[in-house]
Amino acid sequence: MLTYVYEFSEGNKDLKDLLGGKGANLAEMTNLGLPVPPGFTITTEACRAYLESGGMPEGMAEQVSEKLTALEAAMGKRLGQPDDPLLVSVRSGARFSMPGMMETVLNIGLNDESVAGLAAQSGDERFAWDSYRRLIQMFGKTVLGIDGDLFEDAIEERKRATGADGDLDLGAEDFRALVDVFKDIVLQASGRPFPTDPREQMDLAVRAVFDSWNAPRAVLYRRRERIPADLGTAVNVCAMVFGNLGMDSGTGVAFTRDPATGRQGVYGDYLQNAQGEDVVAGIRNTVPLADLERIDKASHDELMGIMRTLEEHYRDLCDIEFTIERGKLWMLQTRVGKRTAAAAFRIADQLVEQGMITADEAITRVDGDQLAQLMFPRFDETAPRDVLGRGMNASPGAAVGRAVFDSAAAVKRARAGERVVLCRRETNPDDLEGMLASEGILTSRGGKTSHAAVVARGMGTTCVCGAEELDIDVKNRRMTAPDGRVVEEGDLISIDGGTGEVLLGEVPVVDSPVVRYFDGTLDPDGEEADDLVRAVHRVMGRADADRRLGVRANADTPEDAARARRMGAQGIGLCRTEHMFLGERRPLVERLILAGDGAERDEALEGLLPLQRTDFTGILEAMDGLPVTIRLLDPPLHEFLPDLTELSVRVALAEERGENPENDRVLLRAVQRLHEQNPMMGLRGVRLGLVVPGLFTMQVRAIAQAAAERLRAGGDPRPEVMIPLVGTVQELEIIREEAVRAVREVAEEYGVELEFPVGTMIELPRAALTAGQIAESAEFFSFGTNDLTQTVWGFSRDDVEASFFSQYLEKGVFGASPFETIDVDGVGRLVRAAAEEGRAARPDLKLGVCGEHGGDPASVHFFDRVGLDYVSCSPFRVPVARLEAGRAAV
Ligand code: PEP
Ligand code: MG
Repeated sequence: MLTYVYEFSEGNKDLKDLLGGKGANLAEMTNLGLPVPPGFTITTEACRAYLESGGMPEGMAEQVSEKLTALEAAMGKRLGQPDDPLLVSVRSGARFSMPGMMETVLNIGLNDESVAGLAAQSGDERFAWDSYRRLIQMFGKTVLGIDGDLFEDAIEERKRATGADGDLDLGAEDFRALVDVFKDIVLQASGRPFPTDPREQMDLAVRAVFDSWNAPRAVLYRRRERIPADLGTAVNVCAMVFGNLGMDSGTGVAFTRDPATGRQGVYGDYLQNAQGEDVVAGIRNTVPLADLERIDKASHDELMGIMRTLEEHYRDLCDIEFTIERGKLWMLQTRVGKRTAAAAFRIADQLVEQGMITADEAITRVDGDQLAQLMFPRFDETAPRDVLGRGMNASPGAAVGRAVFDSAAAVKRARAGERVVLCRRETNPDDLEGMLASEGILTSRGGKTSHAAVVARGMGTTCVCGAEELDIDVKNRRMTAPDGRVVEEGDLISIDGGTGEVLLGEVPVVDSPVVRYFDGTLDPDGEEADDLVRAVHRVMGRADADRRLGVRANADTPEDAARARRMGAQGIGLCRTEHMFLGERRPLVERLILAGDGAERDEALEGLLPLQRTDFTGILEAMDGLPVTIRLLDPPLHEFLPDLTELSVRVALAEERGENPENDRVLLRAVQRLHEQNPMMGLRGVRLGLVVPGLFTMQVRAIAQAAAERLRAGGDPRPEVMIPLVGTVQELEIIREEAVRAVREVAEEYGVELEFPVGTMIELPRAALTAGQIAESAEFFSFGTNDLTQTVWGFSRDDVEASFFSQYLEKGVFGASPFETIDVDGVGRLVRAAAEEGRAARPDLKLGVCGEHGGDPASVHFFDRVGLDYVSCSPFRVPVARLEAGRAAV
């Protein structure tokens, strides 16, 4: 029989797949000899079996009983024992931390009898009844799915009736009365009485944790975070310890370093006389962890020692939850903590400096998405700031948007294309959708470990939390500053995740220092650079040293090429030539298309040649000494002609006016002739080259001439000619011969030696499927994964993302758009096969990718795995690709 239940002492931190993150770390702490209350973990395997069959797996109930008996023996009391009850918490804990899931039910084991036992044992009647009402409230909300406001409203009502200010003013009698009210709420709302059998409470809570794996919020979170849907969650059952037994008790959360900035020094919040959820929910205001030294020095010192132990053991920033019960410290949770992008880079760098991790490990502690975040613009420091109020800088960045006061409004306005800042007193998992839709999140309550702060940091969204001086009135959809100014829904505000400031209106934003560093205008060793820029510099150095994949850029102007080079590009992987045929050159292109006979066409081509040559000279100069892959013209010709409908109207109107629009008529006929129902699958790429004589030759001549001129000027041009949209080797052969001839002719004309590779894009399934044949005629392949995705899926790349992809994502058809992250199983399979067959036919075949996927972190790892030589992406993604290529290699 499978083991479904593990005592904490039987696990360790490497068993996250089986025990979930929380369970594995509780086990690790237990084995480190840290003060963890005893308990056990029900495995993810049990959850998966349950989700599959709808019933608990065979043998699990007995195993739970066995471990419960052991727990009872260790604690010297039984679950819910009337005169001295053992109480337990039941917490979810998946492989990855998931705020969308049911988190915790505390105080399981209390009922009308054992509440008296708890009162007698603790000597605190109020505490016992407060614990009991918390159980019914949490159980009702998370296990039975009852609206939490019903309970909160009842508490408020009680406070009003008794004139109490806060929870602490409520007494034993109040809680006893609330227990009755809460039981009523449960009965009314769920149609069943609150279960009083302790084991039944526990079993129902375990089942609810399993079920919560598929709660809509959890599904949404997983999709967004690309967490597989079939992992399941573990459940941790743990003996209760109490932070609400008086002022010598309390609970807190802490980080071994500041998760917002990454700076050294412990950081956290503590709340006296409270249970864990009070801190996380930001319901009451906490004190900084440093104050614990004054409140309870012994516990404080012990905690500091434990945090040092944890950091040294995990060799990373850890976050922890702890409780102090009447002066005794208990560790309830630890994990390698979430952090902002800036903190990730600073911490990785510090840990290397402190000798805790190697430089290779450091690059695995950061990722390309974080780097991309650091490249976002921030507020212009010189711009005037109209400060409404201040909160805590919970998640960095600069967000500007219209104030909205609930999740629904955020989603609605964001869908309509507006930027919004979600303003709430505090957030909870119900707000997730609105948080996702917002540029920034502002709360008036809760610390840096509140729900809003934690989730925002995870999503990379700017967040200011705990801005208490702002009165956020959700009901009336407005926010009032201390000076009386009012922000109504829809007003523009700016929030600064770096300083915690909340500003009226739109503050202008400027480039980030990290971009300036990449762009070469900020010296990492100079005075102006801060520790973040230095950390990025060192991490990038290591990534470059480690990576096997080359990184090139997609660029088609000298300016972009130069910028890409500064950003670290090792050449151009895709220089599109489409835009070179637009603008003032349009008339020439029109003439080319409309040309009746060979002579007119040649004339138009002659006109285009010098212009193209200049284009290429500039780019080759900017990329001197590095490869520049120039792709011959790809889009359908009609794109260079006027719109069919507009032109038809123009002609009709002119005729109506009795005019004779001869030129327009000729144009219209051409447009009609070239019109295609499905231009993406029509006359483009190599097909165009085959049916418009001279077009590709002109382009190749221009490339060759540009190279010859660069050579004469003492440069080192390295162009490569790339033929797009090839489906069969015959197409390629014809164009290839033309190209080689053109290069030879130019070489003779200029009296220089010219030789450069001719290759093809692999962007049609047929090309991938016949890669072996195509490689006979191609010196390189560049996978055009945009078109390849389009043609493999049959998705129009210009339409589907805006039309129905949101629904596909919502329904979980895929976790990310296949146009964004490579579809490994389908498109990826073709890439892998084509790479292998291509190399088999031509061992020195160069392989690259130039679709959008070249700059996507997950895709970069895939391209590394299948052995491509380089990825090519937009200049701004070049640093991201460099980092990810480094990470893929270690
Ligand atoms: C591609 O198809 O992936 C590609 C890079 O070419 P384009 O996006 O220009 O079609
Ligand atoms: Mg393409």
